[in-house]
Amino acid sequence: MTRFNRRDFIKKAATAAAVGGAALTTACGTSESSSNGAAAVHTNQTFNWKMVTTWPPKFPVLGEGAELFASWVEEMSAGRLKIQVYGGGELVPPLEAFSAVQQGVVEIGHGASYYWAGKAPATQFFAAVPFGMNAQQMNSWLYGGGGLELWRELYAQFNLVPFAAGNTGVQMAGWFNRKIESIADLSGLKMRIPGLGGKVISKAGASAVLVAGGEIFTNLERGVIDATEWIGPYHDYLMGFPRIAKYYYYPGWHEPGTTLELFVNKAAFEKLPTDLQSIVESACMRSNLWMLSEFESKNSEYLKKIEEEYDTQILPLPSPVLSKLKEFTAEAMEDLTASDPFSKRVYESFSRFQDKAGGWSDLTEKAYFQM
Ligand code: CA
Repeated sequence: MTRFNRRDFIKKAATAAAVGGAALTTACGTSESSSNGAAAVHTNQTFNWKMVTTWPPKFPVLGEGAELFASWVEEMSAGRLKIQVYGGGELVPPLEAFSAVQQGVVEIGHGASYYWAGKAPATQFFAAVPFGMNAQQMNSWLYGGGGLELWRELYAQFNLVPFAAGNTGVQMAGWFNRKIESIADLSGLKMRIPGLGGKVISKAGASAVLVAGGEIFTNLERGVIDATEWIGPYHDYLMGFPRIAKYYYYPGWHEPGTTLELFVNKAAFEKLPTDLQSIVESACMRSNLWMLSEFESKNSEYLKKIEEEYDTQILPLPSPVLSKLKEFTAEAMEDLTASDPFSKRVYESFSRFQDKAGGWSDLTEKAYFQM
């Protein structure tokens, strides 16, 4: 392997600047060509799309983000692409969004890819994996580490084009009505926790219960479940959990940086002229950044409110409990990758990237926050 040479780098940097300049000139000079040389069809044709979402209408951050996305696209396209947003249940039930877009009933959907584990288990890697990557690392993997290519390949089987369009940041481990001091305290616990996290706690003898968002509060209040995870302080406060559960545990080992998605019907996307396609992609990136920023600011604000207004005990999960959950996660990953070849491919890419990113973040983010 050639050793990295500083002089080469400077030479390359100079050439890159020149190429950058040339590209700019070309782009300005030939607005009728797209970057791949294909003729870009710039017409005044207007497209009217419908978007379905997995969130209740106007749901904080997530539903708001979907509405903002639509308004940005309309603004950037000067009204050539208009998107009407429907909350979950307004047009189709929340968990039918994927099929509705796949079948072309509507053109675009907003959700989180782990909801579609029943369609293809590998979808889960593009939302969140227990002990997986945080928001910043997920974005790096998706945009530059081969993640998005794998995601596009998987969704193409369903006639869909996916985009990263938001991130929750690190979630909280959840609300418990009893103290968790050892892994044995999870045994017999009934917890509302979806996806891979549910598989992991099952290995600790807990039962993962699926409860629709609207029923979690009553189930927890009446003791039908002993614990629930949701998102973070902002949404958890709005759900009323601090009123009925005493212990609020962190960190969200099961969702360390959940990516939200937009998915477009492939045929509908291909009908768009290249500039509108690019607008959709850019608005997704804007949405990705907006949602993460919004989660960060609202969660910090509502954490304070919970601390001030309730006598919630906010506690870290003990290290031995987290270590054990990590072991169970490795087992759950073995189960998943052994039974699904696509999951195996994605997991290899995911974990290779995570190892590399972890080495770097140990010296940067981790070291910085430990100062
Ligand atoms: Ca969650």
